[in-house]
Amino acid sequence: MSDPLQQPVTAIKGIGAERALDLASLDIHTIQDLLEHFPYRYEDYRVRSLSEAEDGEKITIVGTVYGEPVVRFYGKSKSRLTVKVVVDRVVVTAIWFNRHFLKQQLRAGREIMLSGKFEQARLQITVSEHHFLDTNKKTPQQGSIQPVYSTTANLQVKQIRRWIEEALKEYGGAIEEILPENLMRKYKLVPRADAIRNIHFPESVAAGKQGRRRLAFEELFLFQLKLQAYHAMNRRASDGVAQQIPIEQVREFIRGLPFPLTGAQKRVVKEILEDMQAEYSMNRLLQGDVGSGKTIVAAIALYATVAAGFQGALMVPTEILAEQHYATLKELLVPHRIEIALLSGSATVRQRRDILAGLQSGLIHIVIGTHALIQEDVYFRNLGLVITDEQHRFGVEQRRVLREKGLHPDVLFMTATPIPRTLAITAFGDMDVSTIDELPAGRKPVETYWVKHDMLDRILAFMQKELDTGRQAYVISPLIEESEKLDLQNAMDVHAQLSHYFAGKYNVGLMHGRLPAKEKDDVMQRFSRGEVHVLVSTTVVEVGVNVPNASLMVIYDAERFGLAQLHQLRGRVGRGAEQSYCILIADPKSEVGKERMRIMTETNDGFEVARRDLELRGPGDFFGTKQSGLPEFKVADVVQDYRMLEVARQEAAEIVGLPVFWVGPEYAPLRRYLKRDDYFLEKIKD
Ligand code: ADP
Ligand code: MG
Repeated sequence: MSDPLQQPVTAIKGIGAERALDLASLDIHTIQDLLEHFPYRYEDYRVRSLSEAEDGEKITIVGTVYGEPVVRFYGKSKSRLTVKVVVDRVVVTAIWFNRHFLKQQLRAGREIMLSGKFEQARLQITVSEHHFLDTNKKTPQQGSIQPVYSTTANLQVKQIRRWIEEALKEYGGAIEEILPENLMRKYKLVPRADAIRNIHFPESVAAGKQGRRRLAFEELFLFQLKLQAYHAMNRRASDGVAQQIPIEQVREFIRGLPFPLTGAQKRVVKEILEDMQAEYSMNRLLQGDVGSGKTIVAAIALYATVAAGFQGALMVPTEILAEQHYATLKELLVPHRIEIALLSGSATVRQRRDILAGLQSGLIHIVIGTHALIQEDVYFRNLGLVITDEQHRFGVEQRRVLREKGLHPDVLFMTATPIPRTLAITAFGDMDVSTIDELPAGRKPVETYWVKHDMLDRILAFMQKELDTGRQAYVISPLIEESEKLDLQNAMDVHAQLSHYFAGKYNVGLMHGRLPAKEKDDVMQRFSRGEVHVLVSTTVVEVGVNVPNASLMVIYDAERFGLAQLHQLRGRVGRGAEQSYCILIADPKSEVGKERMRIMTETNDGFEVARRDLELRGPGDFFGTKQSGLPEFKVADVVQDYRMLEVARQEAAEIVGLPVFWVGPEYAPLRRYLKRDDYFLEKIKD
């Protein structure tokens, strides 16, 4: 039984080899592809009365030609044709540009339909399409809602419309239902065939909406189904290591920490240890706002894996962060006779060789490094746990490399980029999520101010005041997109300026990505020890750096940064008991730019920042990278359809949990859908 929808598009009347090539450039190959090439908007050609029309809107009206048309030529070959048309007893001026040849046809008394942009004050319509109603020829768009498709230079939207119409006529009956009946009933979803018909050529506005709703649900549901099925399979595979963690010993370790854990930290530690003890491989995302104390949670998990007789690896995006984590973990773990190594880019060949040997023999228990750690030939004796910090910097690809490293370690992804739930369950839907939603007690929220560049003198005076009380400051130098060289130049300029300003009183350090690792380390160390008072830096300090005595963060050209990044930067201060400040220097031009600065001054909550940022910019810009793992939906919009997304996720999780899902005939279309993915091909029978 072959599926007629899988035939090439050339089966459609009017599509030959050449047109098929044009369609292929739109990734349309089969009839199914054509039917699933949904419009991104509609053109409304339904006739309306003038009183409903708003100024500047595109409208379609019907009227009678009245009086003589007038043509005016200007420039080389330009013309302007005007004629009066009576519409609802109102005289409207219709204008055509460069269509002077229509003059003969515009005879008084003829009935005409006009579509175009309407100017209310002048009662004027600039016509983009017209149609004489006294002819027998009917245009397809006459009086209807017409789909508008994305296309290429070689194809007209009209052609695509015609082919889709043809495809619907010939093959519409072959469109199969994929959603189980109970779901359709529960959420009042129209059948797939009706939905596809109505998303292209809506019989009414309501029918169009129902079609769109159904297809959006289907898209979100199928996407979640894949994630949930993957999750379920992963758990059932039981190919992880069930670590025998000596819980009492871990408790003892926790009691020995310099501070008691927050309630949220306790909760996530419990979730993580449970995963590690289970037979399946942990695949967990740990989210927590900056400063919520994720590092200590990582330390506990690493301690637990070593106590259970395994090795652990901690991967971070930058060398600075690697070194800082190394210092923190050493302090916490070395007293417990745990061997930790830092595999950094600046290690000598010999040091590196020793570390690799130590990992292979098991003499080294924990290794810290950048993600080069997984890309190279590093062998472990028995790797039990991998933690990645700031996981959004690690792409989907790296995640896979990790899993395919032969061993099946438990994996914990930590991120301080608060991700709104709707995106979290989209991008990381195949993971379990733990959230630290509580800051350690006694933290004062950072006070954030937005100022213009011309207030620099006052900012410097304020900085001086803070430094005089013994605190330290970060100054993030202007960011010029796509030019590391200019960024560096900027950092150097600011450094020179501040060095001059504070000469003889305070030390100003400079940090940027191009410094050799040794010097980066050196300046960071001196800032940590309080010998450097002001650290001028490019955004390399963005993630993770922890110097509690720093209480002031000044960011130049703040409008050039993403809000998540600003929030990260702000998170570098407010880590001690003292009041901290963040000053955003920005002269944004646009309203959105101003709104973004206001958001920063109004809330300190990373999740709130993220939510508002997402609303402002949409999901595509939110992560700012192709690596986000965020899928592109054709119909659904994860921001607007977030409720639907929640529902789809819930239903998908429930369905894959049903034993009947894997065998029942009513779920066969869904299983076939999953099997289109290589991962499931072998794993799903029938
Ligand atoms: P992040 O989640 O941003 O990685 P860190 O792990 O760097 O945060 O922790 C921020 C600061 O809070 C560190 O100085 C850490 O020692 C401290 N901290 C973490 N947990 C607690 C706690 N339960 N009580 C007090 N201070 C804590
Ligand atoms: Mg951290």
